[in-house]
Amino acid sequence: MDYIGNIFRPPSEANSLLLQITIGCSHNKCTFCKMYKDKQFKVKSLKTIENDLKEVAVYSNQIEKLFLMDGDALILKQSKLVEILNMINYYLPNLNRISTYGNSRSILLKSDKELSELKKLKLKMVYHGAESGCDNVLQRINKNSTRSDNINAGKKLKKAKIIQSVMVLLGIGGKKYSLEHAKNTATMLTEMDPEFVGALTLILVPETELYKRFINKEFILPDKFELLKELKTIIEYSDFTNCRFSSNHASNYLPVKINLPENKTEILTLINNIIMQNNEGLLKPENLRGL
Ligand code: SF4
Repeated sequence: MDYIGNIFRPPSEANSLLLQITIGCSHNKCTFCKMYKDKQFKVKSLKTIENDLKEVAVYSNQIEKLFLMDGDALILKQSKLVEILNMINYYLPNLNRISTYGNSRSILLKSDKELSELKKLKLKMVYHGAESGCDNVLQRINKNSTRSDNINAGKKLKKAKIIQSVMVLLGIGGKKYSLEHAKNTATMLTEMDPEFVGALTLILVPETELYKRFINKEFILPDKFELLKELKTIIEYSDFTNCRFSSNHASNYLPVKINLPENKTEILTLINNIIMQNNEGLLKPENLRGL
């Protein structure tokens, strides 16, 4: 397979074939993110993509899931994306699901009709990087989308019946916007009403702009219990129809995997107890956290 540079996928795509159709991220300016900083955004040639597919076609009866990389496959022109998805379905006819990362701007560039067309070609899931529901925070981290962009993009995916897993980031508002970030994220998620939410925890990565701000004391990271309060607030103030809510990424201090609204009371009781005990021993040790 033709993999250029470091590649990333969500934990739940561990058993998927990873197909890189773009290199890097077309935005690449979020202040906390270093994932694709070493890559200039490029779209791979159809020939290269087809060669990858030919290579794995012999295993086609074993490949049920495929994840499109890098950060921003939906930014591709509809005609090119359709051509790629057709090619994927030709070489891997037993695929059940294609998924990808998506940011609000790229999703909003697609019409309802275009998203439905992608769904018909088995693009069934988008990992939607929203990060926060607070405009103050989104602006500060240079996310290139607003709260209402996130909500509208989420609604568009829902209309096309594409499942979405919305990723939000605990701690991204710093101490200053901690509560505002958590409350607004909860109300944004309620409006999006996704099937899945993944709450990750910010890890400051050297060489990012946010890390420099942290070193200069312009950005103060909430402590472990303040991060837990953010998690609690997001769960408490959100209202879902039926959502699998997880906070079990390697970056999180308290692994949580629950169904909302069913498990709301019990998880809030658990988090409250841990906050009241103020016992760091109940949280994941720092050295076991990762990106
Ligand atoms: S967070 Fe997502 S949109 Fe922002 S730079 Fe990183 S990959 Fe690109």
